This record gives sequence, C-alpha cells and structure tokens, in this order.
Amino acid sequence: MIDKEWTSPNHGDRKGRDISMVVLHYTGMKTAEEALERLCDPQAEVSAHYLIEENGRLHQLVREERRAWHAGVAQWGGETDINSVSIGIELVNPGHEFGYRDFPDDQVDALIDLLEAIKDRYQIPRARIVGHSDVAPGRKEDPGEKFPWNALAAEKLAIGPWSGQMPLTLPNEEQALGQLATIGYGVETFGAEACILAFQRRFCPRRMGQGLDQETRAAIAEACEKTGACSA
Ligand SMILES: [Zn+2]
Repeated sequence: MIDKEWTSPNHGDRKGRDISMVVLHYTGMKTAEEALERLCDPQAEVSAHYLIEENGRLHQLVREERRAWHAGVAQWGGETDINSVSIGIELVNPGHEFGYRDFPDDQVDALIDLLEAIKDRYQIPRARIVGHSDVAPGRKEDPGEKFPWNALAAEKLAIGPWSGQMPLTLPNEEQALGQLATIGYGVETFGAEACILAFQRRFCPRRMGQGLDQETRAAIAEACEKTGACSA
C-alpha cells in the first residue's frame, strides 16, 4: 500500500507546443515504490505525468501543462520533440528485465478511463496514442508485446493489432517501409530493422524477428490504412 503523495520535480516548459500525443510506458522496475522514487528523484532527471499501479491506483506526478521527461531520443511522424507535445503514462510492470507479466484488468481499466479524459481534453487522434517502443525503436521495448492494445482499440483509444487478414495486394518491401514511415515510425532515424521489430511488437507480436515477411507486410498495410482513417 502506497499512501504517500508523490510529485516529481522533473519537468520543464512545453515551449508553447500543444499536447497532441500520448506515450505509454512500463516502469521496468521490481516494485511500484522503486519506480515512484526514481520518477521523483531530481538526480534521475526522468518523470512521467501519470503512473498507474497494477491494482489501478492512479498517481499524478507532473501537471499536464508541464513537459515531463519520459520519451528521451524519440520521433513520431517527423516530430522529434516528443516530450513537448505528449503526455507520458507509466504502467507498473517489472518489464523484460525483472519478470515481464500481463497487465491486470484493474490497471488497464484505469488507463482507459484516464485516456478517455485526456483524448477529450486535447482532441488527440487515436493514431497518436502510442508506445515508447514505437517512438524509440531499437532503444526501448516498453510497454511491450503483452500490452493489450486490443482493449484500447475497442474504446477507440488506439489503433489495434493486425486482424490477421491478408490484403488483395501485398506491398513490396520498399512500399512497406514507406508505409511504416506514414504510420509514424522514424525509419530514416532509427533504421528499417529496428522499426520493423517495433512495429511487430505492437501490431503482430507473433511475427517478431521475422523481418518483412508476408504477414508483417499485410499488417503494415492494414495499420497504414487505419492510420489514415484515424488521424483526424
Ligand atoms: Zn518508457
């Protein structure tokens, strides 16, 4: 039980930028307390606006109008100052390093409530509610392949995973890379290989590590089409 009120000193000015994105993370630490300590430690120089415990308890660490420090070197759809334009949400989970596990329903339900409020407040398109690994391919793996994007998609809060359907015409490799960039991935900055893996982790985890195989290209084509339909 965490009964202390946590606030983080680690934030700055949004430099006049509007909020237009949400980035989801996992904490990647053994306990919620450890993660809260770090996110509120001035020496660590990291933070997020919100943290959600596995039981669904929500902590606000930084006010939304301030720029929290969660994304690091990152890019999405040509935007490179992700921290200035986004809200960062940390989900407690030990992550790949300390025993990656499923996100409990209570935690996901609390996230959905929070995202609905944020999406309404800033008119954020669902194509711009993404994972840390999407904006920092090759560098970050969170929130990871166990994250239930389906649950968010069902509430129109994100683009969901691949349906499993093959399109009538498959994009070739070059076209698929172009579509990855259209979805938002920083292919030129982070390289094709890292972006393909980040895409698979998010949209078709069973294809992870398979490169641009047919299924992955089908998934990219589908996500690209949905991005076009969900960007406004
Ligand atoms: Zn992260």
